[in-house]
Amino acid sequence: MTFSVRCSSCGRREAFYYRRASGEKLCFPCLEKSLMKNIRRSFSEFSSRLSVKPVLNVLILPERVVEGYALTLLLSKVERRYGGQVAFTVPKSVFKFLIDSQYIEEGLNVITYDDEILSDKDCYTVLDSLNDSLKLIQKIRSEGQRVDAFILPYTLTDLNQALLEYLLIKRGEGLNPLNVKVVDKHPIIYPFKAVPRADVIAYVLGVKGYNTLNFIGRPYCSRYSEVKHVVYDIIAKHAELSYTMLKSLTWFSS
Ligand SMILES: [Zn+2]
Repeated sequence: MTFSVRCSSCGRREAFYYRRASGEKLCFPCLEKSLMKNIRRSFSEFSSRLSVKPVLNVLILPERVVEGYALTLLLSKVERRYGGQVAFTVPKSVFKFLIDSQYIEEGLNVITYDDEILSDKDCYTVLDSLNDSLKLIQKIRSEGQRVDAFILPYTLTDLNQALLEYLLIKRGEGLNPLNVKVVDKHPIIYPFKAVPRADVIAYVLGVKGYNTLNFIGRPYCSRYSEVKHVVYDIIAKHAELSYTMLKSLTWFSS
């Protein structure tokens, strides 16, 4: 005898993902629908600043390949309705991985850059990753490419982690990248800013299967693993708090 669990959202299909934070059990199409809703919501916040057919540039750093890939898929679906153009900016090492693992379909607009632009540390935090993204944005601007908005694939989990890193480790050490929301009037959009990282990972596993996560980018600094565990715990057990944390960002980091 086999048991199957129905999706709590549609009540029809079999669930494949248990969203620990809310207790929901979701089927693949309902998980995808929920991610698409988040993406559309994040764009509608900026609709007054975007042109009719905006050029969106998605920046994918080595440690955000899985999330970047999920955005690639989801944006290609949203794009049809949006009428804009999406370009992806990735380091050469990541581009090679994406091609070898057949992540990238032909016809996708991909811009590559030398890995040397990334900071050369042996230990990365999410803040370092965000800072590298900002560095890359400056480079794209200086090259004069047309871009209306920069899209970064960091999730609610990552942004909360970066906030805690800033408060606990790096306060006073320069600009907080979380406070940079616009570059030369072009907004920086985080389509997954209200999505726990586990949702995005589950989505990619649903699409690609279990061998997806074998690409390890720059490893997270083990010295700060406590910060990471605190955030994972908060998101799993007190989901509401994780949204509140991020909302208080401006207050915290000013
Ligand atoms: Zn469903």
